[in-house]
Order: sequence, then structure tokens, then C-alpha cells
Amino acid sequence: MPSVATTLNLIRPGGAVTSCSPALKDAPWNFDAVPVPAYGPGSSMADVAPADTPRQGEIPAEYRTATDEELDRRILAAKATLGDRVVVLGHFYQRDEVVKYADFVGDSFQLANAARSRPAAEAIVFCGVHFMAETADIVSNADQQVILPNLAAGCSMADMADIDSVTECWEQLEELYGTEPDASGRVPVIPVTYMNSSAALKGFCGEHGGIVCTSSNAATVLEWAFERGQRVLFFPDQHLGRNTAKAMGVPLERMPMWNPRKPLGGNDEQAVLDARVILWHGFCSVHKRFTVAQIEKARADFPGVRVIVHPECPMPVVDAADEAGSTDYIQKAILAAEPGQVFAIGTEINMVQRLAAEHPEHTIFCLDPVVCPCSTMYRIHPGYLAWVLEALVGGEVLNRISVDESVAAPARVALERMLAARP
Ligand code: SF4
Repeated sequence: MPSVATTLNLIRPGGAVTSCSPALKDAPWNFDAVPVPAYGPGSSMADVAPADTPRQGEIPAEYRTATDEELDRRILAAKATLGDRVVVLGHFYQRDEVVKYADFVGDSFQLANAARSRPAAEAIVFCGVHFMAETADIVSNADQQVILPNLAAGCSMADMADIDSVTECWEQLEELYGTEPDASGRVPVIPVTYMNSSAALKGFCGEHGGIVCTSSNAATVLEWAFERGQRVLFFPDQHLGRNTAKAMGVPLERMPMWNPRKPLGGNDEQAVLDARVILWHGFCSVHKRFTVAQIEKARADFPGVRVIVHPECPMPVVDAADEAGSTDYIQKAILAAEPGQVFAIGTEINMVQRLAAEHPEHTIFCLDPVVCPCSTMYRIHPGYLAWVLEALVGGEVLNRISVDESVAAPARVALERMLAARP
């Protein structure tokens, strides 16, 4: 099976494959200098990046022009020199050319915790996106410094909910619901944020009796919230919120969507009063690409295929799949299967291709036949990794992600509530 990099190489004008543009693959630095903030080519290219989204300045030419072999040699040499003083983390969705240098590979929360297992590491280099580096800074030791190799590696979904819009929404909800608990002591509404959100929103949840969830524990967290509140305000991913609440028996008509650009989120008062879960108008442009038609085609081509999709996919896709689960769930399902199983997977292409390579005993393919990786993950290239690692060797910390303690402290409260929540 060709690697993602090989397939992307075929996506050239006149090439055999059509797709989102591959232009981020070889030279993401070309997009650092664009005058208007944008996520760059790939799945999120149509999403609007906020004006204050972090930008990456130009990195030295030696890293932009180095060959793959030279970067490889320099990264390995810098890592060897730094030894235990550095730990490199690689998200599941990161490209293979970067993941091969990672000391740990996992999802965002697994990686944030992995950093804690290396207390000798003064620097944590997070090959992922901005909110992940923030979470690592929140949970790591105070003397550890978190580095994001390319500051422009954001997350379009996380950027769809910002602290000002959520605060404004909260004020409107408080005006409508009041703040008094009901007879059983449940407050009118509990804020729940997905891990894929800014530190400011995690802090907001900590301050307002709320909690963080991951795609692995969203149902447990919603149960926790329903024990304490009459309703939930769930941000930023509408699909994870809807899929999870629906599986718990919440009717769709009691899940209004909140559009932050409209009064009362674009809803009438009664719909907001009747709500059990208010869903923020956010989504992941990678997982939004999966369709029911792709599942039908997989079933027609491979009778007996097992279709597993990520819960960030739209509800009709989750309903049509055999199973929905987090990246961790997908991995474990493949590990536990009898040899010879055919899997059609609905999540980011780099992870699917890696699973296919690691499990030749199964047939594993991505539901989306068009290679269109996460634009923001693709902002990290080995050139940036070499740049930050060699700077560390020289005693300089570049691209540090530091969350102010006034935000980190309540964010930690919301994360600790999540860890304490039990099914
Ligand atoms: S896959 Fe989606 S949620 Fe994950 S970093 Fe990319 S845009 Fe964000």
C-alpha cells in the first residue's frame, strides 16, 4: 500500500489522483507568510481562521532547503545530544516523516500525560496542534517547557469556539434560565468542552462547574454533567455532542444548535428552554468528509467489512457504520480482531495508513478514497522539528507554548473532574 506521502506525490496537475491540494506536504513554510491567516491547503482550507490565530515567522533558509536526508541526520543528532532533556510527542494524525522521530505516539490526552512520565525532560516538543501543546503545558511540571514546532499548526475545529463567543452565549443562557438549582439541586446548565478546544475554554469550564471530555469518555462525562445540571452546553464539536447524546437517548429535538453569530444562537426561546444539550456550531473538516455513500460502497465492495468511524463524523455516517469510537477505540478494535478481517475506517488518513502497515493480517482502508489530510497537522514538517531541536542544543527555546496560570489553574480543575468521572 503506498504511503500518504507517496500518494500525495501523485497528486500533481495531470497526476493520477485528484484530491485536496498537496501543497503543504513539501513546503509548508510557503504558507507562513500569507497575509491573511489561513489553515492552508487540505481538509480545512475552506474554514475561516480567526484574525488572531498564531502565525509562524520565517524559519531559516537552511531548514527550508535541506534535503530529507540532511534533516534526518540533523534531527537524530540533535536528539542524541539532548538525550533525556527532550521528549518528542507525535499525534496519531501526524505524517510519518515526523512521527518517526516521536518518543510517544498517541492522541492528544495520552501524549499530554506521556510527557509527565519523563520528568527529566526540560523540553516537550509537541508534533501536533496548538490546543494539544496547551494541554501538555497545563498538565506538565512547571519546569518543563512545551514547544510547538510550527506556531501556525492550529486546529480549525478548536478555533470555531472562542472564549468571547462562549462567554456571550453563557450570559444569554443565564438570563434565560437564571442561576438557581432545581429541587434536586441541579443547576440550569453545565458547560462541557471537548479536549479539542483552547485552554481558555477549558478554564471557562473549570470556573463554571463544567468539565472536559475526550472522544473516549464523552458519554461518561455527559452522565456526570446530567447528574449535576438540567442541561449541557457542549462545545466546540456538534457531531461528538450529538452522536454521544443521541446514543444516550436524548431526542434530536432537544439538541438545538447554537450559532454564535445569531441572538439566542439562532433559536427561539422555547427551544433553548426545552434543550437537554445545546450544541455549538463547530465541526472537524477532516471527519466531515466521510459520507454514507462511502460506507455503502465499502459494503458493496467488501461484503462482511467492519466499518468503524470516529464520533466527530456527522450523525448519518455514525448511524450507518458498525461502530463509532475514538482513535484509541479504533486501534484496540483492530488489535483484538481475528486475522483476515476487512476494516473500513473513518478517520484521518495518516493514522489509517499506519494501522494498515502495522496490521498486514487484516485489510484496512480509509473510507474516503481521496487523500486529504488534516491541513493543520501538515503545518509540521521535519524542517521545523530540526529547527527547534537544534535551537535547544544551542540553549534557545523557540516557539514555547505557555498557558498563564490564571487560565491553567481552572483548566486543570476541569481536567481533574474528567479524570475523576466514572462510568
Ligand atoms: S483532525 Fe480535525 S479536530 Fe483534529 S486537529 Fe485536524 S482539524 Fe482539528
